[in-house]
Amino acid sequence: MKLYSVPVLLYHRIVNNQSAIGQHKIYVYEKDFEKQLSYLQTNGYQTITFVDLAENPKMDLTKKVILTFDDGYEDNYTLMYPILKKYRFKAVIYLVTHADHNVWGVREGEPKVNMMNDQQKKEMSRYGIEMGGHTRSHVDLSKCKATESRREIAGCKEDVERITGKKAVSFAYPFGGINEEVKQIARESGFTFAVSTNTGPKQFGEDKFQIRRIEVTSRTRMASFKNKVSGHYFYPKTFLQKILSGNQTK
Ligand SMILES: [Zn+2]
Repeated sequence: MKLYSVPVLLYHRIVNNQSAIGQHKIYVYEKDFEKQLSYLQTNGYQTITFVDLAENPKMDLTKKVILTFDDGYEDNYTLMYPILKKYRFKAVIYLVTHADHNVWGVREGEPKVNMMNDQQKKEMSRYGIEMGGHTRSHVDLSKCKATESRREIAGCKEDVERITGKKAVSFAYPFGGINEEVKQIARESGFTFAVSTNTGPKQFGEDKFQIRRIEVTSRTRMASFKNKVSGHYFYPKTFLQKILSGNQTK
């Protein structure tokens, strides 16, 4: 495998106005998201999913990007999906299957935000958006007993598969809460990949159950976005050039 990473971007909400955006600022404005996709298209990037990788593990990873969205907010359907379709791009959405709104966020004082309904999830799945697991009730798995983690992870996988009629291939740990036991349970539950937040090896694929992601928020300016998708975010430019010119050992 080439020593540069496939950027796995982490998004949550896409919004188009100031209201109800909350203190955690886990949103990107619709117009900024569109600019980001336009940049990817103009610069020859292709979006892939973990399903694509599972089906074709030897796929050429040059200029590939994975767009992931955590939690399954309704605005992913109403605002993100139309833009994604316009650019014919794909994405991965990690669903919390036993919540109709962000119960865990409201608990911390965030505004209430609705999740997508099953019909919306089905439609996006048919389009080619991968639906992955994000537990049943958005728990911090690193603080759960093994039996509870198993119920949250394997149960969520069943729920997602019932909704989409497709195998759920990848999983995202809520709050990035990870330990070796949790990773093992994700593997035993039948997932092929699991993504973290900002932890895990920088080289893509080195640990399939702790795949590092790069967060994109409303504070991410275009220059920073370019940096995040180019690989320079993880490796200095000169180092990358050396690798890309063939001076690599593996
Ligand atoms: Zn989450």
